[in-house]
Amino acid sequence: MSALKTVRGLVEAGLVKEESGLDAVAEKYAISITPAVLALIDPNDPNDPIARQYVPAPEELVTTAEERADPIGDLTHSPVEGIVHRYPDRVLLKAVHVCPVYCRFCFRREMVGPQGLGTLTAGELDAAIAYIAAHEEIWEVILTGGDPLVLSPRRLHVIMEKLAGIAHVKVVRFHTRVPVVEPERIDAEMVEALTASGKTTYLAVHANHPRELTALARTGFDLLIAGGVVLISQSVLLAGVNDDAETLAALMRGFVENRIRPYYLHHPDLAPGTGHFRVSIEDGQRLVTALRGRISGLCQPTYVLDIPGGHGKADIGAAALVGSDGCFTVRDWQGGEHAYPPVGD
Ligand code: SF4
Repeated sequence: MSALKTVRGLVEAGLVKEESGLDAVAEKYAISITPAVLALIDPNDPNDPIARQYVPAPEELVTTAEERADPIGDLTHSPVEGIVHRYPDRVLLKAVHVCPVYCRFCFRREMVGPQGLGTLTAGELDAAIAYIAAHEEIWEVILTGGDPLVLSPRRLHVIMEKLAGIAHVKVVRFHTRVPVVEPERIDAEMVEALTASGKTTYLAVHANHPRELTALARTGFDLLIAGGVVLISQSVLLAGVNDDAETLAALMRGFVENRIRPYYLHHPDLAPGTGHFRVSIEDGQRLVTALRGRISGLCQPTYVLDIPGGHGKADIGAAALVGSDGCFTVRDWQGGEHAYPPVGD
């Protein structure tokens, strides 16, 4: 069985109604639902949190004034094709703009998919690698996209070998949905392709709901860990998917139980047609504060906002407030406020 990529396919699978009017959405934004994701969707639940992430909705045609095609400002920091150099010690390497699924809230939705930016040519990849080699301050290369794990193990191996030849690059990080949405791609060959002698490989697993952490996904996580890959998590806070403390707690615990260290919980970006997923920062802060008291310190993600315009990430989960007299007022997970004296008092 292959992925569902058309409105007709969605209708036949019982995921949307015939008269759904989604053709206009499909013309603008790619659709793809893999068999693994389809198996997780309850078609009888109109509010199914898995369906909400992957099944297109008419609200996607509503664009608000604050939304933008490049919400986190990738293009303002792109010195050569495929590279985003926003912080001194690391770069994004966007080798491919294809994904196994197309998330309806995607922050790069204007760049990914068949109508998106495509895959780097051999020449463009060489130029991107040459840029990394020429900048000795680059300690970490982050392969993102698109989803880099849609590339074949052979092509990933080529990229890793090129990076292995650059002494100042110590860490290679992959951001991917594949272990969750297409777990069968994670096999011994893929794991080997993701590692290279002298480099440490991290892999950020993107999942937003605890039901996405299936037994099949676990098999892939275990293979990756056994192959020497360090797993961290990446989730987006999404209205109607995980914007309640119980679901978030179950998701973070699920990561830890799968030996994935919770890393980022992203505030949703201002991508076009994604207003129906947006949560206020205040609600996000209330949720991460609720996690503090509810679950183990191992399960705490960092709640981050990518500042629009390419200004980078900010930790917005901070519970500490600075008073006008220089004293800190620290807010605990139940909302209680406590004065904390400045140094010297
Ligand atoms: S897998 Fe990542 S890049 Fe691809 S559509 Fe989903 S969020 Fe966007």
